[in-house]
Amino acid sequence: MALIVQKFGGTSVGNPDRIKNVAARVARYQADGHRVVVVVSAMSGVTDNLIKLAKEIMPLPSEREMDVLLATGEQTTIALTAMALHAIGLKAMSLTGAQAGILTDGVHTKAKIQNITPKRIHHLLDDGQVVIVAGFQGETPDGQITTLGRGGSDLTAIALAASLKADLCQIYTDVDGVYTADPRIVPTARKLAEISYDEMLELASLGAKVMQSRSVEFAKKFGVVFEVRSSLNDNPGTIVKEETRSMEDVVIRGVSLDKNQAKVTLVRVPDQPGVAARIFKALGDATINVDMIVQNVSHGSGKPATDISFTVEKADLLKAQKVIEGLRPSVGFSEVIAAEKIGKLSIVGVGMKSHSGVAGKMFDVLAQEGVNIEMISTSEIKISVVIDLAKGEAAMKAVHGAFLGT
Ligand code: ADP
Ligand code: ASP
Ligand code: MG
Repeated sequence: MALIVQKFGGTSVGNPDRIKNVAARVARYQADGHRVVVVVSAMSGVTDNLIKLAKEIMPLPSEREMDVLLATGEQTTIALTAMALHAIGLKAMSLTGAQAGILTDGVHTKAKIQNITPKRIHHLLDDGQVVIVAGFQGETPDGQITTLGRGGSDLTAIALAASLKADLCQIYTDVDGVYTADPRIVPTARKLAEISYDEMLELASLGAKVMQSRSVEFAKKFGVVFEVRSSLNDNPGTIVKEETRSMEDVVIRGVSLDKNQAKVTLVRVPDQPGVAARIFKALGDATINVDMIVQNVSHGSGKPATDISFTVEKADLLKAQKVIEGLRPSVGFSEVIAAEKIGKLSIVGVGMKSHSGVAGKMFDVLAQEGVNIEMISTSEIKISVVIDLAKGEAAMKAVHGAFLGT
């Protein structure tokens, strides 16, 4: 008898029939003698709609109120899922994040899980119940509702699996597993049988939204092996686990395209010690994650100056612009330019550690496609470039073809 955590994403609970399918699957596992904890997302489109509603009220709503609003999406689904289980004769109870004992810090809209007290879940399981937990949410020690960042139900599932010492953690979604690229963009992408935490982490943070990146980080830290698989069939999925030696034989595991980045350029920033520190500390204090940073000599007359460009998530762009404008009097740059029509294209693979010539090949493919590279960043196992968004998908297909076949 195993303890299994099963997470179902938005499409998998997207309508009443899909929710009934989830209940039927859970019932099969329970009939086999397993204890099941289910984590569900909001029904597909619900979170986006709630965000849209809020923005119609005001462009930069209070993040505390956003969390109160967004948590309702998952609360709807847990109740409906419990009802679907009752309808087929199973004992089941829904729990909000707070009721499930998920404690977070107070960083609204991207809170971090600090602790889980799964006492109530254990009691319910001992009583033969299926426990359904709302993904993506928790509460602070003083009772404020928080959310865990977009795609955060993955994190709820992985963190619960770690805390409950589950035997199995399954992430059910609308694709058969993790592919060499988003199969919606690259039709020739192949399903991977396995992938290392580090590769999954890079792909996820670079735009492959099949897993939330923070959830992968958490899984790596706590050694939670998990499987990504489809809620629409019984095909085996992709196992995400610690790197094994044979994984290095493959140079590139996957390609990703992040369309949710924006680029901010500060023109003619005084070229003096401490200026970059002031800019990026202010952004950090506002909990804005900055990814790539590039500094160039600024053209123009007068005192030595540089242009500083950096990328942030599109969702943080307004906030970042506000922070930067606040620095204008003290730092003294001449202009701020925001570009939203950019894409970040990346190739990822642990095999890069032991193979050379990978960057040259990637840049060559892009040159042949007539794609200009605006920014570059690399790590041991990835190469990312910022390019024109309009050319993103064609560039992704070309790079995938060159490294992973057509
Ligand atoms: P869920 O609602 O189940 O959490 P998501 O929409 O967050 O599902 O993630 C699943 C989607 O991720 C797929 O429909 C697919 O288009 C996209 N995706 C992006 N990159 C990949 C990849 N490398 N492999 C599989 N799916 C990917
Ligand atoms: N509903 C949340 C979102 O859309 C969390 C999730 O789906 O995992 O981001
Ligand atoms: Mg998701």
